[in-house]
Amino acid sequence: MITLLGKILPGKRDRLEQWMINLNNSLAMAEFPGEPKKLLLLLPHCLQNDECAHRLTKNVLNCAGCGKCNVADLVKMTKKYSIITKVATGGRLATRWVREIKPDLILAIACEKELTEGISAVYPFRVIGITNARPAGPCVNTAVETKKVEDYFIRFSAER
Ligand code: SF4
Repeated sequence: MITLLGKILPGKRDRLEQWMINLNNSLAMAEFPGEPKKLLLLLPHCLQNDECAHRLTKNVLNCAGCGKCNVADLVKMTKKYSIITKVATGGRLATRWVREIKPDLILAIACEKELTEGISAVYPFRVIGITNARPAGPCVNTAVETKKVEDYFIRFSAER
């Protein structure tokens, strides 16, 4: 429905998608049984600095922690809170990670479009979507508010 509305009102697409993500997040938080034993953090490939040669899709721990992109901080956090973290190059790989890992809850970082499509694609797995920032335009050198991600980790770690 959101996709159709986005086609009818193209200038409002991002806002409609953000509205849907916020609604989904509220529902996921309200419905969550309270003890997410297995949390999966899904990162988009575009979060990695485009000059970085490390292969994160194989293993996010391949990040050397240079700090040129948000991946360094996210890796530190996922080690601290024992979160499974995967990097996906697109929706198909993200869906594969979800089906293989079968997490209780997913924290997914992506643009509005990828998040709305991904939330539907992996249903009934519960997803909390965090929208990325695109200071260099879409799909390259994107960023995320790492504090927002850590706030979720803290909340869910307290319940584990
Ligand atoms: S922080 Fe990690 S992923 Fe980002 S550029 Fe540095 S080594 Fe690469």
